[in-house]
Amino acid sequence: MVSYKKLGLVNTKKMFAKAVKGGYAIPAFNFNTMEQMQAIVQAAVETKSPVIMQVSKGARKYANPTILRYMAEGAVQYAKELGCKKPQIVLHLDHGDSFETCKSCIDSGFSSVMIDGSSLPFKDNIKLTKKVVNYAHKHDVTVEAELGVLAGVEDEVQAEESHYTKPEEVIEFATKTGCDSLAISIGTSHGAYKFKPEQCTRDKKTGKLVPPPLAFDVLKAVEKKLPGFPIVLHGSSSVPQEHVDTINKFGGKLPDAVGIPEEQLRKAAKSAVCKINIDSDSRLAMTAAIRKHFAENPGHFDPRQYLTPAREAMKELYIHKIVKVLGSNNKL
Ligand SMILES: [Zn+2]
Repeated sequence: MVSYKKLGLVNTKKMFAKAVKGGYAIPAFNFNTMEQMQAIVQAAVETKSPVIMQVSKGARKYANPTILRYMAEGAVQYAKELGCKKPQIVLHLDHGDSFETCKSCIDSGFSSVMIDGSSLPFKDNIKLTKKVVNYAHKHDVTVEAELGVLAGVEDEVQAEESHYTKPEEVIEFATKTGCDSLAISIGTSHGAYKFKPEQCTRDKKTGKLVPPPLAFDVLKAVEKKLPGFPIVLHGSSSVPQEHVDTINKFGGKLPDAVGIPEEQLRKAAKSAVCKINIDSDSRLAMTAAIRKHFAENPGHFDPRQYLTPAREAMKELYIHKIVKVLGSNNKL
């Protein structure tokens, strides 16, 4: 058993309480590679922002759970080396699919876990979440649960259709499970293709898709039922069109990729939403930089040559999100 406290990590408790009160949201960035991790830490230190580094089931499979855990430990030390005296870094399991996965993460140094029982019937979701909460709280680890189903594909999590969270269910769910935060479904979606063209309108000038707005009425109703309770938004990449255009310009093929407009996320961050998950945007920034680099430097083959601009592009994106979308800068 390795406690996250020994690694210098923190859980989400105080961080979320401050964020809900302060009207901002904590960034939750997924990572699989060293370059992503470095970019996340550099961005968080430069903006003096708390940060959640999260690992999905797919990331654990890709990079190896032990390596990712040591990388998070390294992230804390790296933040200190960059001049941050008291880094506020959470290592979080994204979309935990079973009690066993959550337990193994808690036992190996995670400070926060998500148990995703959203595909289960309501009662079974409560039962599974409560089991994870009981174990996690013994170790002062915080737990995120989910009610409602998000559409889209994220690693191995996928659903054809979304179902908005039912506000009438949230009090019973939060009370019976004892979870620390709740991911809800209000129209965000996983992946870089968040909406089908028929769900959107098309901008006549640019030909780009304009997505349907988030269901702020559902968010408001949830807030009313659970005042001050930390709410989480998954699938909240904005799919920056400049990165999509760069990818397509240099040989990529991402037609009609579309995300959640940043002004809507900013509006959500000012409410009870205190954690916003962003994964696809960093993938797009990285891929755009690499495609551009290869197109302009066909002779390069040293990974450092193309991963350096990729890391810079991700860092710039993370800083933009922290300052312009989440508002979590200067909150250490
Ligand atoms: Zn998710």
